[in-house]
Amino acid sequence: LMQLSMPLNFIGFVYREIRQGLTDIEQMFDLLEIDAEVKDTDSAKDLAIANGSITFKDVHFAYDANRPILKGLSFEVPAGKTVAVVGPSGAGKSTISRLLYRFYDVQQGEILIDGQNIRDVTQKSLRNAIGMVPQDTVLFNDTIAYNIRYGRLEATDRDVEAAAEIAQIGTFIRNLPDGFKTMVGERGLKLSGGEKQRVAIARTILKAPPILILDEATSALDTTTEREIQAALDVVSKNRTTLVIAHRLSTVINADEIIVVKDGTIAERGTHQALLDQNGLYASMWNRQREATLAEEHLRQVRESD
Ligand code: ADP
Ligand code: MG
Repeated sequence: LMQLSMPLNFIGFVYREIRQGLTDIEQMFDLLEIDAEVKDTDSAKDLAIANGSITFKDVHFAYDANRPILKGLSFEVPAGKTVAVVGPSGAGKSTISRLLYRFYDVQQGEILIDGQNIRDVTQKSLRNAIGMVPQDTVLFNDTIAYNIRYGRLEATDRDVEAAAEIAQIGTFIRNLPDGFKTMVGERGLKLSGGEKQRVAIARTILKAPPILILDEATSALDTTTEREIQAALDVVSKNRTTLVIAHRLSTVINADEIIVVKDGTIAERGTHQALLDQNGLYASMWNRQREATLAEEHLRQVRESD
């Protein structure tokens, strides 16, 4: 009903936004009650979470039939562990997170959570079990408190404030003129990328899902913000099954396994140290990022001494 009452071109606009930008699909879906490609089967049952282990088994996927993106991907995220996905831009990293959230169905192979094929469970129960901190969070035109509480609507003010604290954004909010009642979003106070991401983290802390997907921001954050966000992410992902799509390799050092995706397959896999020792693609990405960081630091020092 809600869909029908909305102008078609607006729905089209939002739909394109979701498809292209993949902003905050969790929120957009809830907001519009639309589902892009997938449907619950008639016999769909609720996902029964035991401990939240994730298995990708020979997963193949293409947006367009003649351009395969994932060509037989197999990996596991054991319950409570963290697996990082890295690789060149366009390799299909975010696609992996979209498939796990069942934004699309795989064309071959399967994705299992605690042994249940995600195709056979209700989307609602699947998405309830997953917390997603997307690359770019879209905020509601509402108070900052509401934007955090959205993770669990029955949360008390105290819970909301505690979540903000853990997400390292409490002080920032308390210093705003209207505190937690400050209006944010397009028509309110505009938050920076790092601030929005911390709101999304606070929301996820409230939701406390057994499974986490973190798609890191690509945009270069300053080192302080990066450190704050990393600290907040470490707190949320502790003891939770976590799939992190990483752009900054500095954030994957402690992952239980790192998967390097290239040309639709897993080119390398292992721990940070094992991959460095292997001296392959990961090692070269690592060295390149290190050089870029050092150059940046150097530039900043030169500027500061002027
Ligand atoms: P990454 O996150 O590794 O940078 P993505 O998973 O976002 O890469 O995208 C992988 C490939 O799929 C890219 O070439 C991208 O252009 C393409 N792609 C992403 N979304 C769509 C879509 N909705 N329709 C068609 N192609 C897409
Ligand atoms: Mg991406």
